[in-house]
Amino acid sequence: MNVASQIERYLPQQMLELVEDISRKANQMGHKAYLVGGVVRDLFLGYSNLDLDMVIEGDAVKLAQQIAKTRQLRLVTHPRFGTAKLGYSNFTLDIATARCETYSKPGALPTVVYGTIRDDLFRRDFSINAMAISLVPSNHGELIDPFQGSDDIERRYIRILHSGSFRDDATRIFRAIRYEQRLGFELELQTLQMLQQSIPMLDTISGDRIRHELELILKEKHPESALGRLGELGVLQRVNSALRGNGWIAEKFSKARLLSKSGQLPTLYLCLFIYSLSQEESERLIHRLNVPAKLARALRDTLQLKSRLHLLCKTSVKHSEIYYLLREYDPLAVQANAIASESSSTRSNLELFIARLRHVKTLLNGDSLKKLGFSAGLELGEILQVLHKAKLDGEVKTAEGEKKLALSMKPQYKGKRLKTPKVN
Ligand code: ATP
Repeated sequence: MNVASQIERYLPQQMLELVEDISRKANQMGHKAYLVGGVVRDLFLGYSNLDLDMVIEGDAVKLAQQIAKTRQLRLVTHPRFGTAKLGYSNFTLDIATARCETYSKPGALPTVVYGTIRDDLFRRDFSINAMAISLVPSNHGELIDPFQGSDDIERRYIRILHSGSFRDDATRIFRAIRYEQRLGFELELQTLQMLQQSIPMLDTISGDRIRHELELILKEKHPESALGRLGELGVLQRVNSALRGNGWIAEKFSKARLLSKSGQLPTLYLCLFIYSLSQEESERLIHRLNVPAKLARALRDTLQLKSRLHLLCKTSVKHSEIYYLLREYDPLAVQANAIASESSSTRSNLELFIARLRHVKTLLNGDSLKKLGFSAGLELGEILQVLHKAKLDGEVKTAEGEKKLALSMKPQYKGKRLKTPKVN
């Protein structure tokens, strides 16, 4: 099958020019270039894909360096792995030397040697991802499809390339479900059976690799469907016995999408995903997935705040109390609790903090207080906090009001802790 005309219609002009430039240069260097992976799959499905993958029979790094010399591109190379990344403002192109992989033991990272395009396709996860399009002048546009991926796209199947695939690399379990749910495909019967049999092999996979696959799921448009399916199959429970991907998550995830910026969504999803876990179970998960410190803090804060939500359940809680309780926590942990809390008064207090209270600042600052005769250090800090609380609680509204309040505290301040004065 030749799909040259489809490529021309499918790729945006800028991308097409780059691809043509690379294949021309590859040819001059005596190399062969191919489009592979997701972009080929998505071309058949008619979906846009701005992350191109190319495989080169030859030296991909040298080729990428040559291309970067003549164009305004960002270039990152990994000579040890024979890979490079070229970046424009709105798309990226990964370019790799064709390789052949073998697994010394299940779950280990593969041993890599350079090979042909066919070797490179043989090491891939599913038939729909194991197709390439030749950019070699003599057969430009020809589809290379050794596992009948295009038939599987038509039949809407996710199919592994050989029966040992999930055993070799159990991260493919997560990948299979991610594609199944994203594309609305079905796991082909033997693939489903092998997947179920291979769930215990997840124990051979490092925390970083499982976390990476979970993060890819959390970047999907509707991660809850993959998590639900992983829960149904018992995959989540193999990672942590308390994890579930149930309907509660689906409802909360759709709420999260309405409220949060897209860059923050994966972390917010994860905070909601662990919401039903105890602090101990969550610690076990953090350890199992080797969660980096910043993300671990958001998860811990989520559950710690959850255990203190009773402090916010009344509508009469003062704004300053809300502020000084919540300022300690990662903002996404606060957001997760606002989404997850079942009490409407708690929820509105959390939402008030997110929308307004956390941005409240006094109009006077340290310098203006010094000009009023307050001395630097503890005194100043305490006065500023009194002003801030008064502002949060609506007791002062103007700079003049803040000044009056500050001055009213002056005679009583003797280097001791201040009592908040009554403001009229
Ligand atoms: P998308 O998420 O749109 O599918 P993609 O297809 O580019 O993006 P990546 O996760 O970037 O997917 O991986 C690139 C290619 O590398 C895949 O198409 C797949 O063929 C291959 N691949 C990635 N991970 C594995 C794996 N664990 N085992 C085998 N092949 C893999």
